[in-house]
Amino acid sequence: MSVKTILAVGSIALDTLETPSGRRADILGGSATYFSVAASLFAKVNLVGVVGADFPDEGWRLFKERGIGIDDVQQAAGKTFRWGGRYSSDLSRRDTLFTELGVFEDFQPRISNHHKQMDLAYLGNIQPSLQLAVCAELPPECTIVSDTMNLWIEHNRDDLQKVLQKSDIFLLNDEEAQQLTGHEQLDDAAKVLLAEGPSIVIIKLGQAGALIAQGEKHQHVPVYPKATAVDPTGAGDSFAGGLLGFMARHGSDNIVEAVVTAAATASFTVEGLGLEGLLPATPERVASRVDAIHAVMDQGFLRHRERL
Ligand code: AMP
Repeated sequence: MSVKTILAVGSIALDTLETPSGRRADILGGSATYFSVAASLFAKVNLVGVVGADFPDEGWRLFKERGIGIDDVQQAAGKTFRWGGRYSSDLSRRDTLFTELGVFEDFQPRISNHHKQMDLAYLGNIQPSLQLAVCAELPPECTIVSDTMNLWIEHNRDDLQKVLQKSDIFLLNDEEAQQLTGHEQLDDAAKVLLAEGPSIVIIKLGQAGALIAQGEKHQHVPVYPKATAVDPTGAGDSFAGGLLGFMARHGSDNIVEAVVTAAATASFTVEGLGLEGLLPATPERVASRVDAIHAVMDQGFLRHRERL
């Protein structure tokens, strides 16, 4: 099976992070950046996005080193998107300190003709209207995986609903699922989201792993058990990078295996500040964490059998 190329849209950002382990100002980040660095471990990624005149050379270098296609990354006059976040001492809570849209304010996504024939696309966290603009350019057979965040659930619900309708796989975390559906029970929330259009909903549960909902079937996938979390920023996008990276190589049929790869990939991101944890990841190191997650799943299965 040939490896598919992935089209990705989302934020390319300069982040200011305050974590218990340290502070960093204006470092490379953004949903599309974490996603494409993670996915590039497995497949070619073509990025759609915008940066400002202040975007650092280090960012362009990173995309080049990883073979990430930047034909559709526009550089506009103005400032690169900036986001600041502060974490609680146990990393369980995150407050947004600021969001400065900068060049995203007037951004019109442009996709080169030779990138429009993609059959795998990631609509990463960015205004839902921009996700929809990219979606409109994609062929009907394209498998679309989308992500979102609380900000858009609160302020752009109608557009987000349309994104949900167009998605084959929808990713969100537990709080977002509760906020979007009004259901406390995640099984119920997943049912409501599935009824909107996607054939698979994946609810990320932080340290508790991820829940895959597909039709009536629900399956839980745990996290890599040995990661020491330093900074969870970008973990969700790296998770998506592992997920689509797996799908680009092996197709969409084995969703559990794709989610195990997603969890293994995200485990690198949490181990360092900003991108520092993800950058040393290699396909081999991800594969060894995939095995470790399988070992946890097998133990759970054996314990379950003993209880029967
Ligand atoms: P995550 O930790 O998975 O939520 O992703 C963190 C990344 O999302 C950071 O690198 C931010 O630059 C980016 N981000 C935060 N807020 C927004 C927003 N409103 N729109 C787009 N990207 C955002």
